[in-house]
Amino acid sequence: MNHLNLIILGPPGAGKGTQADLIARKYKIPHISTGDMFREVLKDEGSELARDLREYVEKGELVPDEIVLKMVKMRLEHDDAQSGFILDGFPRTLEQAKHLDDSLIQIGKNINLVIYLEASFNIILERLAGRRVCLHCSANYHIKYSSPKEEGVCDRCGGELYQREDDKEATIRRRVEIYLEQIEGIIGFYNQKECLLKISGDLDAGDVFKLVESQLVKSNIIGN
Ligand code: AMP
Repeated sequence: MNHLNLIILGPPGAGKGTQADLIARKYKIPHISTGDMFREVLKDEGSELARDLREYVEKGELVPDEIVLKMVKMRLEHDDAQSGFILDGFPRTLEQAKHLDDSLIQIGKNINLVIYLEASFNIILERLAGRRVCLHCSANYHIKYSSPKEEGVCDRCGGELYQREDDKEATIRRRVEIYLEQIEGIIGFYNQKECLLKISGDLDAGDVFKLVESQLVKSNIIGN
């Protein structure tokens, strides 16, 4: 198998986290979600970084590039990311995409597939407003479509489930708006590199995963 350096793009609620998790487990690469990284930092309420981040993350505004880029760079240097990774929630701006590309080139790496999940607004709203997240392990649930066995408790680790502050309707709208402002530039960038795979995020998660895998085979990124 070649290295598996992947990116998953799409609006909030398109199913990026679910796909990234499936890919990460099957191919044993880390699922690197910048949103999860920031939420981890926010748990340590007293830290200076948490104070800086809170105002952006809870309102659904973008965290300044300076902070994001530093954290992603450090994460990509870990041993577990050397033979592959899947980035979820990053890049969010054309600047971030260009910066990532430059940093990878410097170390002789590149991105081999960018999965772009599109989703309609009604679906996004329904998914996010019903989403619950484990405080401990970040596993995601949905009150209607994938509820835990016991209400409010994570099946995986027994942690407490909560609703993200930014999964409230007004903030969801703002997050989608920001996403739409930025996505064209990012898509154009990866389209030029001919590594973009567009899939409907309205599809069932299992069907999306099959399409991703068949593209990985077709592009010779993984064997049959
Ligand atoms: P997510 O879990 O991907 O929806 O991210 C949650 C929040 O974290 C976003 O609404 C932003 O405030 C922040 N965030 C995550 N990734 C990035 C990024 N690449 N650039 C800037 N802000 C980000």
